[in-house]
Amino acid sequence: MQDVLNTIDGRQVAAISGEWLDDVDPAIGETYARVASSDARDVETAVAAAVRAFPSWSRTPAPERSRALRRLARLIERDLEKLARAESVDSGKPLTAARTIDIPRAVQNFDFFADAATQFASEAHPTDETALNYTLRQPLGAVACISPWNLPLYLLTWKIAPALAAGNCVVAKPSEVTPMTASMLGELSIEAGLPPGALNLVHGLGPRAGAPLCAHAQVKAISFTGSTRVGNEIAREAASSFKKVSLEMGGKNPTLIFADADLRSAIPETVRAAFSNTGQICLCGSRILIERTVYARVRDELVERVRALRIGDPLEPRTDQGALVSRQHFDKVMGCLQVAHDEGGRVLCGGVRARVEGRCSDGFFIEPTLIEGLGPACRTNQDEIFGPVATLLPFDSEAEAIELANSTRYGLSASLWTRDLSRAHRASAALHSGIVWVNCWMFRDLRTPFGGIKDSGVGREGGMDAMRFFTEAKNICVKL
Ligand code: NAD
Repeated sequence: MQDVLNTIDGRQVAAISGEWLDDVDPAIGETYARVASSDARDVETAVAAAVRAFPSWSRTPAPERSRALRRLARLIERDLEKLARAESVDSGKPLTAARTIDIPRAVQNFDFFADAATQFASEAHPTDETALNYTLRQPLGAVACISPWNLPLYLLTWKIAPALAAGNCVVAKPSEVTPMTASMLGELSIEAGLPPGALNLVHGLGPRAGAPLCAHAQVKAISFTGSTRVGNEIAREAASSFKKVSLEMGGKNPTLIFADADLRSAIPETVRAAFSNTGQICLCGSRILIERTVYARVRDELVERVRALRIGDPLEPRTDQGALVSRQHFDKVMGCLQVAHDEGGRVLCGGVRARVEGRCSDGFFIEPTLIEGLGPACRTNQDEIFGPVATLLPFDSEAEAIELANSTRYGLSASLWTRDLSRAHRASAALHSGIVWVNCWMFRDLRTPFGGIKDSGVGREGGMDAMRFFTEAKNICVKL
């Protein structure tokens, strides 16, 4: 049985309590490793290490910090196959996806913010000829980075990289459900020569390890990605001590397909948007809104394509749909399917547990599901399911499409399909979401602001927004 250890002060260590959590391979339903179950004592040693490392790391010249991040990027690249396999086993996602999306993006995150470290600049405001104001952007100190299980290394590094690039020291709390690649990253950070304490990783449960980290007086900022419920708790905690917070939370994203869209691309991309990573991406389009004149055609083609998705062993190269991440999440999604059934939804395909032969016969698989016939206000169309389940709703006008799209408490992303240029701009501006994709989905440029509005988020990650989050602006006014 493998041990998943904390990285604290440049060393890999077990939790002080000596306690462990099970790490389960969801494709086979069996425990295959044990994870350090940290508590406030481990958090204390990690924060102390970060605080000790801060004066030196924050004064390290930016090009040197940049080189350290690049060394880490190269080591992730070197171990890409090993990391991809670990990510697939830990999360149930297809190995192909881990190899081509998750781990390459972790490399890209470090390379991108290695560049940002040397390109980050601040403003000057000359006040006529009487004074010169200039702004320093100073790193904060020890910061917390808390990440979820759906894109484990991808999202963890998306936070760690800008925090380090800006000169902060990090205490990260990866998801306890998928901790393996974070632990491997900890080892690589030591090999890359990051100074002890610059990057600390503390494993364990949210309330036991994450909560004391957020409450710690020496932690200056919290960058969180996860559920809206936990984000709410963190926001309350941070408010009482005036910590900076960035919250990336849940979504119930609409895909809007207008009759004039290029359906040859809209339909396959809508399937990708709904079912990538088994629907376990915050950006997944789980409400598919279709103009009534093309509704039947689009529905039938969607069903045909979704039925063709291959569910199976994540390690098989041909698998499109792997396992859900855990027994608990599997039960949650099955519960949502029951709710959809009780609400009177018509299941067009899927709707049941998927049976996979052989090694994965006890894994947590669900058939990709499309449901129609439900009103916009029902729970199925309001609650985030975060699984392979999407609903179809018809609309008659642009105004109705926008109203439906905006009718949830979430506001993360939307995908909009039309050939009408004016409508594309008009509708994009009217959608209540932080991100709109026109005639595409999840087409990313890491320089753009990333985040949601309403119950989906507070603040923006990405590009210089992340560098600004992880620094404090100080204005200096020099009277001339
Ligand atoms: P979660 O909120 O249960 O957990 C996220 C992290 O927070 C984990 O590391 C967990 O241990 C920790 N945590 C839990 N309770 C805590 C507490 N009291 N204090 C501090 N930390 C605590 O989320 P999850 O189930 O891991 O992930 C799925 C959710 O993440 C979905 O809602 C999804 O939409 C969201 N998500 C959002 C984005 C985005 O960019 N907006 C990206 C990916 C996932």
